[in-house]
Amino acid sequence: MQRASVYVHFPWCLQKCPYCDFVSRPTTRAEIPHEAYADAVLSELEARREETRSRALVSVFFGGGTPSLWEARSLGRVLEGVRRAFATEEPDLEITAECNPSSLDRDKAQGLAAVGVNRMSVGVQSLDTARLKFLGRLHDGAGALTALEHALEAVPRVSGDLIFGQPGQSAAEFEGEVEALTRLGLRHVSAYALTIEPDTQFGALAKKGKLPLAKEDDVADAFLATRAAFAARGLGHYEISNYAVPGEESRHNLHYWRGGDYVGLGAAAVGCVSDATTRSARRWRNTPNASAYLAAAGARDLDAMAADRETLSPADRIREALMLGLRTREGVDLAALAARTGVDPRTDRRAALARRTASGDLTLDGEVLRVPPERWLWLDGIVADLF
Ligand code: SF4
Repeated sequence: MQRASVYVHFPWCLQKCPYCDFVSRPTTRAEIPHEAYADAVLSELEARREETRSRALVSVFFGGGTPSLWEARSLGRVLEGVRRAFATEEPDLEITAECNPSSLDRDKAQGLAAVGVNRMSVGVQSLDTARLKFLGRLHDGAGALTALEHALEAVPRVSGDLIFGQPGQSAAEFEGEVEALTRLGLRHVSAYALTIEPDTQFGALAKKGKLPLAKEDDVADAFLATRAAFAARGLGHYEISNYAVPGEESRHNLHYWRGGDYVGLGAAAVGCVSDATTRSARRWRNTPNASAYLAAAGARDLDAMAADRETLSPADRIREALMLGLRTREGVDLAALAARTGVDPRTDRRAALARRTASGDLTLDGEVLRVPPERWLWLDGIVADLF
């Protein structure tokens, strides 16, 4: 049976962070249409039943935006509908909700657990209150730790997000944050370098030369120090931005990085499902406009809901699989990829593969192609060479 995960996008936050280019609109708690949004997502799910009813459900991920702002009851209704829509589900189904410390008190954490969430990914970003202010976050260092404690009391698996490579941030300071999170009991952490995206407040400030930025070399050093700090505490570097104790890796993200099918639901959600006969895949992106989404989903009108739709050829799927899979420690199984797409991924890239394996940028272990973790700093260039 074909397998698929589900991603549900929740497009609202209490405030827009100055570095964020995700689709999220600032709003107040009172303005969020909790039940109407749940109804809309369930209507979309019904309209997409062809993608779900004969598949096995791998995982569910509520992302955003800030899904912890959603009433637990409304999120739970959506979760129930998703689980019912699939023919079957994997044992011990992983159900993750992204949470912000400013909207994760004890009641919310317990409420999310009560409706079936069993993993929380908490947007800590930093434990330093001055840095959190710089990042435009609504919580402080103590609030982040308290939210993590509530999450750990409520569910068995908790991940935290951290941002490294901030201007003036020393390796020792960041290592102190890694130490604090792992001491608390976190067995999964995502660590991202602060990147400046053009269509953000930080992007505008940087363009005017008004944003303090870390030097590129310092960010590279911070990346290496980050890996060492996690390794010393038993968290392996299993994807370029993700660290976990063995067995605690995000199953949802692994499924995605392995090129698995996923059904995206909600405003701005992206979904991609393959066709076993044509070996192609269909990808869609829903309108990012929450009001337009609510109207289109209510009418079960997938045409009105779509901002973008495209068909990925087997060659496109190979490029995507290389781009995503080479970010991971497990790499890409070329034989499995050829079986999925009907095309040998080596075709058209023999020269690049030979050159990059000779230089040590790539390793081929049987059929498994990898970028060794010590070359991940140059990952983009290595992958670009295979396109
Ligand atoms: S809380 Fe997260 S999704 Fe919302 S604006 Fe900040 S970074 Fe973006």
